[in-house]
Amino acid sequence: MTRLATTGEVLQLIRSGEALTRADIGRVTGLSRPAVALRVSELLQRGLIVEDAEGPSTGGRPPVRLRFNTAGGVVLVASLGASRTQIAICDLTGEVLLRTDLDIDVEEGPDVVLPLVMDTWKKLLDGHGPVVGVGLGVPATVEFAAGRTESARVMASWTGVVIPPIIAARYPVPVLVDNDVNVIAMGEHRVAYASELDDLLFVKVSTRIGAGVISGGSILRGALGAAGEIGHIPVRDGGGVLCRCGNLDCVDSVASGTAILRELRAKGRDVLSLADVTALVRAGDAETMAVVRQAGRWLGEVISGAVNLLNPAIVVLGGDVAEMFQPLVSGVREVVYQRSTQLSTRSLRIERSRLGPGAGITGCALLVIDHILSADAIDAATPRML
Ligand SMILES: [Zn+2]
Repeated sequence: MTRLATTGEVLQLIRSGEALTRADIGRVTGLSRPAVALRVSELLQRGLIVEDAEGPSTGGRPPVRLRFNTAGGVVLVASLGASRTQIAICDLTGEVLLRTDLDIDVEEGPDVVLPLVMDTWKKLLDGHGPVVGVGLGVPATVEFAAGRTESARVMASWTGVVIPPIIAARYPVPVLVDNDVNVIAMGEHRVAYASELDDLLFVKVSTRIGAGVISGGSILRGALGAAGEIGHIPVRDGGGVLCRCGNLDCVDSVASGTAILRELRAKGRDVLSLADVTALVRAGDAETMAVVRQAGRWLGEVISGAVNLLNPAIVVLGGDVAEMFQPLVSGVREVVYQRSTQLSTRSLRIERSRLGPGAGITGCALLVIDHILSADAIDAATPRML
């Protein structure tokens, strides 16, 4: 005896385009006409789908088409970076409706940062709605199921903070929190690469270094959510640099944007920001190119280990330092092709992020949309959800 398709599963068929009419649903699921009608009317009532009257006019009554209602609600998203935060509201396909960027220092802590983010959503909302979910990316390790930030060493004021209840007190909808690089990897993969490959390693090199792993099409979080924290893997011959985590020669301490700036200043170069370094690279400054290339080699050491372990189809380099792509990727390639196994590098691509800074927002939106529109969530939700 086969189980009957649920309302949530019928929605998936409509969203994916597998079923466009009531007759399609009946054919795909084997449900009786009354059972199809019941599920469809439930979805219509909840505003999750709409009917398009106009079908092809081939004589007779055209079948009514069913369409996922992308405007049935909005999701609130925020991608928090170490120094810059992107805040947006998106429709139910993940399309950005409105977006604003704020300069916030996350080290100010959740008591300052979260109210600021929530106030910004309120301003952006202005007539849009209803709010059906919230997605956040934070620059810390996140115990995913609980939405609890764990990374005591680098975001001290956030340690142990359980974010979802704080947000839900003001926006009582599902709130999902993940590591910032995980959501960027998810956005980059889904928008730019999902049609061609399922295994992607995203490495973000900015003020800090982190990675997000897409394996078999899904984000790889590990047992608690700490997978992908490559920043604190040590490199050989790093020169004995003390990392903020207390260990020596972590790749974060020798190859991050912070490290590149420190190295150039030690050589007497007048660089205030990574934008200055990017300008020097573009101008072909030999000393700057050499420093960035060496950072790329150290990064390559850690990436080659990850490539051996995970066998991704592509390594995508993103973050501010990826603006210095040529010398950086030269260093990375030099070491990865030398140290990784032949099979793992046979068709390995190493490319620059296609989405750029927008990937975080898109990833946050997809994170929450995947959750609230999953068949299980639809079947469990009360009708007032949408
Ligand atoms: Zn470290």
